[in-house]
Amino acid sequence: MQTGRIFSIEEFSTYDGPGIRMTVFLKGCPLRCSWCHNPEGQRGQIEIVRSPNDCLACGACLREGAKKTGAPCLVPESVAVCPRSLVRLCGEDVSVEQLVRIIEKNTAILNASGGGVTFSGGEPLLWADFLVDCFAALDGKTHRALQTCGYADADTFLRVLAHCDLVLFDLKQMDDEMHRRYTGVSNAPILENYRALAASDKPFLTRIPLIPTVNDTRENIEATARFMKECGADYVELLPYNTMAGGKYRMLGREYEPRFDGSILPDPHKEIWKNYGIEVTIL
Ligand code: SF4
Ligand code: SF4
Repeated sequence: MQTGRIFSIEEFSTYDGPGIRMTVFLKGCPLRCSWCHNPEGQRGQIEIVRSPNDCLACGACLREGAKKTGAPCLVPESVAVCPRSLVRLCGEDVSVEQLVRIIEKNTAILNASGGGVTFSGGEPLLWADFLVDCFAALDGKTHRALQTCGYADADTFLRVLAHCDLVLFDLKQMDDEMHRRYTGVSNAPILENYRALAASDKPFLTRIPLIPTVNDTRENIEATARFMKECGADYVELLPYNTMAGGKYRMLGREYEPRFDGSILPDPHKEIWKNYGIEVTIL
């Protein structure tokens, strides 16, 4: 039986596909987007997270690390000693059977709203075998969506695609150099997978996290709209940059370095989408 590593389950989400959704977040992502607001989903390993809010500065959590390693640090034992329950493990391995059992408890409510389950991340395609087994086990029980950045080899993408009902596909930046600069990887496999998705008969939604000065320029919006039109897509959902994105980095002991001015409102350039006949929703 396959296992997957999840870092969160959102029970009643209204943003991750039609109806009310249960969203399962899988850990690990090949990208390092400068604006990422799910940094706890980036690394594949189980991490120790400490919330700075209401900390008593008693040092009990770090002393556990010192006992074990000789230097003050967080270790799994730190979780049990915090008097405020501020330390926790982020990431848990679950089997297909365990996860499907959790989802099945809510399928009646999800189905009544026209919703279902969405697998997100991180990047869920890193867990392709697990995903395929989960989708197969949920076949006929609820609507199954995949939320992806599209970065995977073509065989993996097509294999997972065959088992879900809907794909929510992120497009971030059409210029490859800019894509590398702000996400750490080339957009070539992403665009290739998008073309394959658009050419398939699988329902899909295109989503763009709209980041000021990174991808909300006229040039990039025009290039994205042109690419989508060429692929036959006529609908896009824009997600304006979330200014609260930095908060979670501190919990992971990391600095948030967005490398762009997040105080500027991103420009959706509605007129460009209209010129290309692409309907826009701003979420
Ligand atoms: S044990 Fe808890 S309260 Fe004490 S320093 Fe660590 S996080 Fe803060
Ligand atoms: S693809 Fe998503 S999860 Fe991965 S780094 Fe980018 S924003 Fe974060």
